[in-house]
Amino acid sequence: MPGAFKTEAVVLRSIRFGEADRVLHLYSADRGRIGAVAKGVRRVRSRLGGRLEPLARVKLVLHQGRGELCTVTAVDTVNAHPALRERREPLERAASACDAVLRLFDSAEPNAPAYNLLCNQLALLDSDPGSATRAQSLAFRMKLLLAAGFAPELASCAACGEAEHLGGFSPAAGGVVCASCEAGSFPLDGEGHAFLAGALANPLAQAPAASDRALAQADRAIAETLEHHAHVRLRRVA
Ligand SMILES: [Zn+2]
Repeated sequence: MPGAFKTEAVVLRSIRFGEADRVLHLYSADRGRIGAVAKGVRRVRSRLGGRLEPLARVKLVLHQGRGELCTVTAVDTVNAHPALRERREPLERAASACDAVLRLFDSAEPNAPAYNLLCNQLALLDSDPGSATRAQSLAFRMKLLLAAGFAPELASCAACGEAEHLGGFSPAAGGVVCASCEAGSFPLDGEGHAFLAGALANPLAQAPAASDRALAQADRAIAETLEHHAHVRLRRVA
């Protein structure tokens, strides 16, 4: 369907292309992933260039030609997240959030919960640098799993339904498992289990606190769930 259309999106990635252009990987509110060319943006006088940095949330007019990539014809900033870029930790955690969305949501199918979650995460890291913790990054990732339809079973054993003696996590079974079903699982103690449940239950800005040990278990549960069910490999959250 050639022609011009408007959308709102986050710039996930920007790659140099040709003499003065960039190819953008966009995650949009109403069209999922979009690939676009921003022409001439590396020239000093470009009107578009400064607004299309990675992590920026923008309103765009795009032109869909016959090729795979759209062309950016106009851009307005919704939130440039300027504070985010001034500190290493929020910047790295924001880049990690964009990378997770890049790998997990690669289709043109819109996912409003995932889009809103990414926008909220970037706004939070921009407005509150203290929120850039390992626990908060993992809580974001857990909510992203839910938005993608891969949330693990946490209420009872994913293999047999038993509600007691839940001490393991099985990526293959898709959640916590009891002592009788622990084959193929790794240990997930009470604190790690509580962190995963609390990450889903709490708002993004109120990620539960947990020990490094519990966070390492939660990280492994999230990462192996994605590897097993979504065939997506993410860098671990340090
Ligand atoms: Zn069981």
